[in-house]
Amino acid sequence: MDLRTPGGRGGGVRTALASAWIMVLPILLSACVGESGEEAAPPNSLAILGGHLWSGTGDQAVPNPGILIRDSLFLTAGGDLEDGDLAGTTVIQLSDDDHILPGLFDLHAHYAVDFYGEGRVDEDQAYPALFLANGVTNTYPAGEIDPVKMQALRVRIETGQQVGPRLFNSGPYFGTARQGWNREMTPEEIRSEVDHWYAEGVRNFKAKGIQAQHLQALIDAAHAHGATVTAHLDSGYRNSVNPRDAIAIGLDRVEHFLGGDAMTPDRSAYASLVEMTPDMPEFRRIVQLYIDNGTYFDATLSAYGYWGEKDPEVYSYFEPEMDYLAPEARAAVEARLPREVNEQFERIYWVKRDLIRAFYEMGGGDLITLGTDHPSWGEYFTPFSIHRELHTMVLAGLPPAAALRTATINAARALQVEDRLGTVEAGKLADLVIVTGNPLQDITNTRRVHTVVRAGVVYDSRALMEGVKGKVGEGHGG
Ligand SMILES: [Zn+2]
Repeated sequence: MDLRTPGGRGGGVRTALASAWIMVLPILLSACVGESGEEAAPPNSLAILGGHLWSGTGDQAVPNPGILIRDSLFLTAGGDLEDGDLAGTTVIQLSDDDHILPGLFDLHAHYAVDFYGEGRVDEDQAYPALFLANGVTNTYPAGEIDPVKMQALRVRIETGQQVGPRLFNSGPYFGTARQGWNREMTPEEIRSEVDHWYAEGVRNFKAKGIQAQHLQALIDAAHAHGATVTAHLDSGYRNSVNPRDAIAIGLDRVEHFLGGDAMTPDRSAYASLVEMTPDMPEFRRIVQLYIDNGTYFDATLSAYGYWGEKDPEVYSYFEPEMDYLAPEARAAVEARLPREVNEQFERIYWVKRDLIRAFYEMGGGDLITLGTDHPSWGEYFTPFSIHRELHTMVLAGLPPAAALRTATINAARALQVEDRLGTVEAGKLADLVIVTGNPLQDITNTRRVHTVVRAGVVYDSRALMEGVKGKVGEGHGG
């Protein structure tokens, strides 16, 4: 096998390539892994031919130049494939309408659910398979209800005991979002918690409802390890921290809203957010602050719409999600529907659509990340939400390629893993989503996932979904 990386990327499309292959088969289902079985070792060598590729590096999909995967890594994406000895290579032959994308990231991927109105619990049984089935190969939960349980889930996925996406644990919330949070905690205590969770594998911490001195201690302790911090902040109201001030002390990423001078400390951030418009000088100043500091902004647009009127263009079911609920959970959920509309969040949904387009147009496109932020009450599930979020971004005015970058390379950079993930390039981990139809022409084609590859292992999307139908929320009590 020729182990060279492709000489000269952009070397063009090699249409004569397939003739050089020793073995070309239709999609080899024996290479696929269903939901329940143990995760198979990646086939020694896997080739994906045909269809179109959006590698994450440009704005266009191109005819797939041929992808070769070996031992969980992309060996080549176009280039020198004909040089290889391909005996024993498993080949997936795609049709023209198939489109290959890098594996997707959800950076506010709540595993947390509450189907009984009794408080949130992390759904660690059915959700992992559903994330993967939807093309989400990377999840950051942005605050875990039970961080010990979520560490255990990560270990099960990593060791092949459970099928799921890569899990970038956030660890527990730092701030009042954590049950039993101690407002009197000293900086030393924050540091020792960070040291503990870093040792447990947390590389990206999450603050929510935190005071300034605690946030400073968290950022300093995380940065001492080379780890990052993201935060759900406020306006400065009631001892909260405005994102403007958090950026000044080194915060890496911000969730939900940008902050700034238009969010005054005499009222909550949401009360100001409903009145924000892209032409306000305060808005333009805060956007510039993000750009100048390279601070990432997790947009979470569609999260607010779930609480509102549920714009039918985005929230109509493309998959009967409630069929995935366990029967007892479904009964509890249906007894509590429909939910009351939250007028403030309905308004915020539309305001945020305007603001994110302006953020993009001012040059912040590389700093936007995708986060779904939907702690489910059983009507919609987080693993499907990525498609609604991508759709909302495009409806807001982002070009489809820019929307897809928020869920791929931007997210990989935000988590500091862009050397391993985020694009289809030689040397990176082989994470792919294959959908029917071109999402760059119609972003809703991202919903039409049929095959997912994570670290070189091939999964059939429909088989993953069928395997957990009727199982979401199983055993959650009530
Ligand atoms: Zn959240």
